[in-house]
Amino acid sequence: MLDKPEDGYWHTASFGGLFNNCKKENDLKAATWLMDSLDGVIVQLAKHRSGPKRARLVHRVVDKAREKWWADHPEKKAKISCKAGCAFCCHILVDITEDEAMLLAKRVRSGSVEIDRDALRRQAEYGSADKEWLNKPSKDTRCVFLGKDNLCNVYDDRPASCRSYNVVSPPSECDKEVYPMGKVLVSTVPEGEIIASAAMNISRTGSLPKMVLDKL
Ligand code: SF4
Repeated sequence: MLDKPEDGYWHTASFGGLFNNCKKENDLKAATWLMDSLDGVIVQLAKHRSGPKRARLVHRVVDKAREKWWADHPEKKAKISCKAGCAFCCHILVDITEDEAMLLAKRVRSGSVEIDRDALRRQAEYGSADKEWLNKPSKDTRCVFLGKDNLCNVYDDRPASCRSYNVVSPPSECDKEVYPMGKVLVSTVPEGEIIASAAMNISRTGSLPKMVLDKL
């Protein structure tokens, strides 16, 4: 395995696209390190049974990776502008795994969280790559788990995709009403991305509303 590259913010939304964007030798080193690491995590995760427990395991490991990354890179942590109540990212149609959908559906069925099922059904008609989604009024794109106070009602069980969003642009640009098409700059933790991507590789995936509706 190649050495882990030391610096830079990477937003690795698509691992496949990494190699196409490699312009410098260090980029290629970084992409190769990510792909090697991804294979290793896939093998480890595949040893666990699918279901809500595996989703929680992935979340614990993603959180640990994030904590370690921020401890090792305090100067990068200092740039994060996320605060409780900022909810721009909760209007993005995030992709989740089947394990995570089972976990969230379990929370709904247990009555520990209430959701608007009609809104969930309406949102389930869109895919995460749907351009139409961006043009919808913000009241229609709020995640069904987002509370009236703009706090996540399933914070401890929020999907890995939600855990991975760390905004580094000014909080004023996190206003969905002012910037309906989005303006935020997101940075991610490399190890966290690897674990989240590995989980997506061993499970069926899809947009949060579609996947949760399917499991209710
Ligand atoms: S699950 Fe929580 S953190 Fe994720 S989009 Fe919904 S409200 Fe936001």
